[in-house]
This record gives sequence, C-alpha cells and structure tokens, in this order.
Amino acid sequence: MPPRDTRSVRDYIRTIADFPKEGILFRDVTTLFADARGFRMAVDQLLTPYAGERISKVVGLEARGFILGGAVAHQLSVGFVPIRKKGKLPGAVISEAYALEYGEAVMELHDDALQPGERVLIVDDLLATGGTAAAAIKLCERLGAQIVGCAFVIDLPDLGGRTLLEGLGHDVHALTE
Ligand code: AMP
Repeated sequence: MPPRDTRSVRDYIRTIADFPKEGILFRDVTTLFADARGFRMAVDQLLTPYAGERISKVVGLEARGFILGGAVAHQLSVGFVPIRKKGKLPGAVISEAYALEYGEAVMELHDDALQPGERVLIVDDLLATGGTAAAAIKLCERLGAQIVGCAFVIDLPDLGGRTLLEGLGHDVHALTE
C-alpha cells in the first residue's frame, strides 16, 4: 500500500521572497490550486465552520479569491459575485476606497449584484491588514447584504486583519497562519 498523504493545506503553499518588491514574503497559493488534493482540501476546509448556515452568495475578491470563491460557490450550489479593482467591472458599480501603505486602492461591486437580505460568505486567499476585506464588507453591506463570515486560506496575524474584522463584528476563518 502506498504511504498515506499527510500533507496539510499549509504544506502546498510556496513562499517567494522579495515579490512584488524587496522585503515582502509572498505567499503563493498557485501551488495549492495546482494540486487536486490540496485544492479540494482547501475548499472543503474553507466551508467547515459554515455547515448548516444559510448562505445565498459567495463573494470573491480579485484575483485569487475568484478561484477559491468560484469553487466554494459551486460546492454550495449558490451564485458567485466578484469584487474587483477599480475600472474592471462592466456594469454600474458602487466603490469603496481604502488606504494602502502608499496611497489608496478602490474596490468595486456591481450595484445590482446582491439583494437586500442576502447572506454572503466573503472569500480570499490571504488576510493581511484587512483593508481589502473591510472594503468588501462595506460594499456588500451597502447593498443590504448580511455577512455570514470571511474565509481565507492564510492569515498573517501580525498585520492585524483579523483584529480589524473581528472588531467590526465579523467572523474570520483562516486555514493557516
Ligand atoms: P490586505 O488588504 O492588507 O489584507 O491584503 C490582502 C490582499 O493582498 C489579498 O488579496 C492578498 O492576496 C494580497 N496580499 C497581501 N499580502 C500578501 C502576501 N504576503 N502574499 C500574498 N498575497 C498578499
């Protein structure tokens, strides 16, 4: 019998130093997505805390949140809604700006993508400062949706994202730190 594969989600993630700029340790999930067992495990584990919860839409954050969120939505048999960087969505949008280390970024959501009362799960690959996810939460709430939770593969706890989102009253789920 072949030995049992005991790798966890964390074991499939690759770290690339100095990308996209010097001093950054980039946590690369393409190696997780490329592995059938790793990808399935990640999608299953993202959903574990929400078993029995009513979720009507999965919202994925550009760009790696699209890959995970699409798979999570398929698993739940619910629709998928993208939140994108400024200027990428073709229809009428609502926008939220948030601060970056240098300057600001803007995230957008189609203004008809969620209905009031919808129960949304937000999905992305990585939680760092929480700025992106907090902007996404605001966009969903502006359309009247309720956030069931925010699910990430990786949390970088030193950067404070979990503290920020939990401080705003939201549930944070991450598979690894
Ligand atoms: P933040 O808004 O600071 O929480 O940053 C989260 C977003 O930036 C996510 O969409 C991540 O994909 C990306 N990101 C931030 N830091 C890293 C990192 N060290 N490795 C990979 N992606 C990162």
